[in-house]
Amino acid sequence: MRKIFLSLLSVSVITFAKPPATNLGLLKKQLNTYCSSGQYMQDIADALRPAKLYLWERIQSNHQNKKLAVVFDADETMIGSVQLMQSNDFGETPAYVMSMLKGGKSSVIKPTLELYRFAQKNHVATFIITGRPETLQKTTEQNFKNDGYKNWTYLYMSPVNPVTKPHSIVPFKTAMRKKITQAGYDIVLNVGDQYSDLSGGYADKDVKLPNPFYYVP
Ligand SMILES: [Mg+2]
Repeated sequence: MRKIFLSLLSVSVITFAKPPATNLGLLKKQLNTYCSSGQYMQDIADALRPAKLYLWERIQSNHQNKKLAVVFDADETMIGSVQLMQSNDFGETPAYVMSMLKGGKSSVIKPTLELYRFAQKNHVATFIITGRPETLQKTTEQNFKNDGYKNWTYLYMSPVNPVTKPHSIVPFKTAMRKKITQAGYDIVLNVGDQYSDLSGGYADKDVKLPNPFYYVP
């Protein structure tokens, strides 16, 4: 009997009571497939489609001639850095992130550019609120222009660098939306890839875009 018990033990697999955290290597493979399959861009387009419809309804019913506005976040909303992240195997050190931002090579996210142009064509103000530090204003503006974004109403950039000094961007972004509202605008849509872009109010509808690559508090 003891012999049988021991032989059973020798073939059994020792497992953890709970499965360990997600395997990083497999997760990176999933992320690469998510991008290369086109699903990532499709998910962005799917999120923006009802937003555009809602904006159109609001434009059509704006009989009081309110000053309508759309607020956009920048990274992974207007412009994306997936290829740069992939080339570094998704290694997101603060130094690497800063070098990406300084490089000004982020590429356009086309469904967002379409919404941006649609808003402007219909006389809706386009505001950009980004956690990027103010020190990167020139590079950032050039990056936007290279990718087809023009004539934004105002660009708000963070006075404190959230990459090198991690902190929540919620107070800054909320305060800027409050400022826009106090200037007489009705923010119809607030578009961002992070929940921290969207929480804090001062928008009629929040539009969350997918971002499985990184987290901004
Ligand atoms: Mg973003």
